[in-house]
Amino acid sequence: MRYVARYRCNKGSADIDRTLCRLVSAAYGTVRVYREAFDRAGVVPGEIRGAADLPRLPILKKEALARPASLADVLRRGVDPGHCVRVGTSGSTGLPLNVYMSRTEDQYRRLLLWRAWRRLAPLRLPMTVVDVGNWVEGDAPLAARRRGPITIVRVSIARPVEEQLAVVRRYRPQVISGYPTAVDLLAEAGGVSDRRLRLVACRGEILDAATRKTIEGAFSARVADFYNAEEVGNIAWECPADPTVLHVNTDGCIVEVVDDAGRQVPVGTEGRIVVSNLSNETMPFLRYDLADRGSFCAEGDEPCGCGSRAPRLRVVSGRDDDYVVLPDGRRVSPRLLAMAINRAFSGLSPCGSLYRHFRRFQVTQDRVDHVRIDIVPESGPVPDFGAILPAALAKLHPDLRCTIRVVECLDLGPSGKYRKVISALDAMEGSRASDGPAVLS
Ligand SMILES: [Zn+2]
Repeated sequence: MRYVARYRCNKGSADIDRTLCRLVSAAYGTVRVYREAFDRAGVVPGEIRGAADLPRLPILKKEALARPASLADVLRRGVDPGHCVRVGTSGSTGLPLNVYMSRTEDQYRRLLLWRAWRRLAPLRLPMTVVDVGNWVEGDAPLAARRRGPITIVRVSIARPVEEQLAVVRRYRPQVISGYPTAVDLLAEAGGVSDRRLRLVACRGEILDAATRKTIEGAFSARVADFYNAEEVGNIAWECPADPTVLHVNTDGCIVEVVDDAGRQVPVGTEGRIVVSNLSNETMPFLRYDLADRGSFCAEGDEPCGCGSRAPRLRVVSGRDDDYVVLPDGRRVSPRLLAMAINRAFSGLSPCGSLYRHFRRFQVTQDRVDHVRIDIVPESGPVPDFGAILPAALAKLHPDLRCTIRVVECLDLGPSGKYRKVISALDAMEGSRASDGPAVLS
């Protein structure tokens, strides 16, 4: 019964404090990256008694977990990665990361996601979910996989939009989950009108008001934002009473908003979003910097209009990338381009990811048949990017050309915010995936 609190639903503050204490202690005792980081910061795990003590822990950047000397450095001692559930981040920050968890941890985070969906739509089990994402082709993309009472059908965004839509119509899901840019393209192709469809759950990118409206007009279901990350699962769900705010999923994580020095900022002040995962002991994420920005809303004594008392978060900027226009005029999700580049390097490193070769990349489309790819390489020998990347882009379209620049750092532009895919086409040729303040999903 030692760790029962971390799998509890509707955790109270005492459950959260207890869970956090145990996770901090376990991370220090069994995960090298945390032991070293805590030692450097002079943290004594026994002094962390709950969420109020979190600011004493150092903030961990993605680089620390994505580029360890050895996988064993980021996993609990004794864990066999081969027996874990592994999920990969899409590299939305240009730096992919594999996340490992036990089967129980995986089931618990699925449960929390399902509960978050249920706050927005009346879902009934058994149910089918069509998940439109950057799944690897050949990974049985159209195979329906049953996980208990939920059947998940994965559709790759690399498939033609009409084909993706045909899959949705064939499987008649209760939930469609996907990037707003991917679902928006489905909406443009006609969308789905089906009384069985209850929820279009957007995630992984900014969902701006215009895109939301387009999707709402094309699907006969509620459209809602879910702030998810592979490192945590569901971080927050859209308030059913106010689509501009998200409620933190307090069963799964603790969210902080901090300044550049790692200090928590006052309510209403924008800062970096830092998250602590409350269930994953296999590969802990404690005070983990998500590279998104947001602020907490002031809370009164009364619960929110939707009835929830969970803290309300406004996510103002993050993983917003531009659409890409192919030489034949097709507008595709920026994820497709990132996926093509990531895949060009898969299998080249022991972990099957590209981090051994470059730290970050940024793609700028300046013509419909040309993109510029800026690459910050890893230290050590630089591979022949010029031999690898053109072939990867040619798979998207044979006339798509690229210029590759190896740079020391990326130009973040006036916003100072990193974007992986930028469109420099004029308004007639391309369009932004998102503009202005919006809510991440
Ligand atoms: Zn609410």
